Amino acid sequence: MIKAIVGANWGDEGKGKITDMFAEQSDIVIRFQGGANAGHTIINSYGKFALHQLPSGVFHQHITNIIANGVALNIPSLIKELDQLRQADVPKPKLLVSDRTQIVMPYHILFDQYEEERLSDRQFGSTKSGIAPFYSDKFAKIGFQVNELYDEAALSDKLSRILEVKNVLVKHLYQKPLLEHDAILADMIRWREQIHPYVADTAAYLVKAVKEDRTILLEGQLGALKDPDFGIYPFTTSSSTLAGYAPVGAGIPPYAIKDILTITKAYSSAVGAGPFVSEIFGDQADELRRRGGDAGEYGATTGRPRRMGWFDTVATRYGCQVQGATGVVLTAIDVLSYLDEIPVCTGYEIDGQITHQFPSGHLLEKAKPVLKIMPGWKKDVRGITSFDELPDEAQQYVSFIEKEIGVPIKLVSNGPRREEIIVRIKD
Ligand code: GDP
Repeated sequence: MIKAIVGANWGDEGKGKITDMFAEQSDIVIRFQGGANAGHTIINSYGKFALHQLPSGVFHQHITNIIANGVALNIPSLIKELDQLRQADVPKPKLLVSDRTQIVMPYHILFDQYEEERLSDRQFGSTKSGIAPFYSDKFAKIGFQVNELYDEAALSDKLSRILEVKNVLVKHLYQKPLLEHDAILADMIRWREQIHPYVADTAAYLVKAVKEDRTILLEGQLGALKDPDFGIYPFTTSSSTLAGYAPVGAGIPPYAIKDILTITKAYSSAVGAGPFVSEIFGDQADELRRRGGDAGEYGATTGRPRRMGWFDTVATRYGCQVQGATGVVLTAIDVLSYLDEIPVCTGYEIDGQITHQFPSGHLLEKAKPVLKIMPGWKKDVRGITSFDELPDEAQQYVSFIEKEIGVPIKLVSNGPRREEIIVRIKD
């Protein structure tokens, strides 16, 4: 049984908690895209963790965790994450890193920073983790796969050739200090030793695991609207955030994924620039931000305040469609308990016309939200364990969203802790 857990929106939908719940029942948990630029928040008996690259199964000894070929591997930051687990007394996790995974280089991170500096007020709101320069190099075929670390002569030679080109930009476009071959090579040799215990042919491992019908969880980062093809390009990330990419990013047959559990939050939040139709501002946004998540809506990686908005049925229906959602989890309904009335964005007004279809590019920029006002429930819903016990207004809110997005809402999350979950539809 292979399940993917992915986001319907702009990321931060609460995938971490849901992934953690399902990870426990899995034999293998896989990260198949993205890098250290986003993070899951996981709260369990060891404490609270922001996982950036480690798969969510690292807290369970029976799980093999895989960082697969589709990931942007930042080795120093991975080693730091492993150290943090050790410090919190989490037993050493079973971790495999694909020998085909490509490595985030120090100059990817620098170029990300230099480019945002150069763009100044035209910037995209990058997390400056080197993700865009990394994926550019991967597809320009000047990236480094993990296996290349182990042939030092070839590595040194390839690095010289790449730095020749990079240093033209460093010198003439960015006017920054030149990149030094020997220092970077020394870093890579150190990384080679650090990563060595984990390196494996994970594709071959997974062929066998699929044949043996093992329970596999594919863990998505960010959400559908950050996908480079179907998202709000260019305010997207640089690797596909869709379940459809998981077979490529992990090395499993496309038909093997049976369940695509898509996560959406009871309100919206987004980080970075770009269109966000149901966005709210001022005190209204501040209050929702302060009450959101488990300690306010601030980036797990960057600490940046997230942009806030009402639930958007247009964007979420589309997000579920492009994910191929087979079921939805609606998270954080507890956060809305303070509101007398809850606006929901149910349409976009573009040039005087109302549409329910999520548009591309310039039309999206012009869209204004059409809001429907739902009654609030004004009751703390944390601690409730069955759907029927939720206040009527909360049940209506969930049912309304389900009808709008057209995918069954199987689980409702009513608190950040893993036991705060209502099973609405059993598989
Ligand atoms: P991810 O990027 O999709 O994994 O999202 P995060 O893990 O960053 O989740 C966003 C925040 O919401 C975190 O602070 C979670 O602890 C929190 N969270 C998840 N589910 C719930 C919920 O049902 N209620 C509340 N109040 N917070 C939640």
